[in-house]
Amino acid sequence: MNTEKSAMFFNKIGDLKVECFLCPHNCVIKPGKLGLCRVRKNIKGTLYSLNYGKVTSIALDPIEKKPLNNFKSGSLILSAGTFGCNLKCSFCQNWTVAHERPVCYDISPEKLVNKALEFVPDGNTGIAFTYNEPSVWYEFVYDTSILIKETGLSNVLVTNGYIDKRPLEKLIPFVDAMNIDLKAYTNSFYKDVCKGYLNNVKETIQFAAKKCHLEITMLVIPGLNDSIEDISLASKWLSSVSPDIVLHLTRFFPNYKMKDVLPTPRETLENAGEEALKYLNHVYLGNI
Ligand code: SF4
Repeated sequence: MNTEKSAMFFNKIGDLKVECFLCPHNCVIKPGKLGLCRVRKNIKGTLYSLNYGKVTSIALDPIEKKPLNNFKSGSLILSAGTFGCNLKCSFCQNWTVAHERPVCYDISPEKLVNKALEFVPDGNTGIAFTYNEPSVWYEFVYDTSILIKETGLSNVLVTNGYIDKRPLEKLIPFVDAMNIDLKAYTNSFYKDVCKGYLNNVKETIQFAAKKCHLEITMLVIPGLNDSIEDISLASKWLSSVSPDIVLHLTRFFPNYKMKDVLPTPRETLENAGEEALKYLNHVYLGNI
């Protein structure tokens, strides 16, 4: 089934080129070419989403696995993802779906929501868009989110927070909870390791904190973002947004293009946790 779907948030800018406003990269895309996320394509002067209705993974997971520890705890959540990502983190823990073109099957928003309803007797509380970056699945996530809210189930995004303000404002009325990755607290890390900008993610966190339940994940990578100073600065800043924001500090394992870095020592994670608890009321250690 051909599920290419006309994209939201782009302008035609002459010579059949388009500019995409879905995420802060604001790609200018020539006809026949893809954006940086590799899932939005300019076809004859119109931008299309290539992953609309394409699912690579679907599973009924404990909600704590998202991770969300302080939202509907103890319940399960139907978790779905597609392919594509708008950051290029060399440590990506989900690279097979984020940066490859894996096998997909087709599903409509209606079918996905019906599946979520079928699993309610098993303890399902809603749908989580996860596994790859949901903001580059925007049109499908948006259409499905409207339907989920009509059922009364919960709608969850597990995201890198790299999304422009306008699409976020349009989607967030249909979102109950988010887990946003804060990949580090330095511009240089975002620029060099993820090919993005810290400030854009901070803006998403500030906005989301006012609109829905919010938890943050920091993957602590030895030698790269694990200094107590950085953990302290990140926690202090999160606390200035709200001391009740939940922070998950999770253990890194070598993956993708970062196979030469050792897993995070338990002691590093525990020290980071102690530091974060000076500023935040809820800190959890993960992957240990
Ligand atoms: S969503 Fe994709 S095409 Fe659009 S600006 Fe971001 S990376 Fe570029």
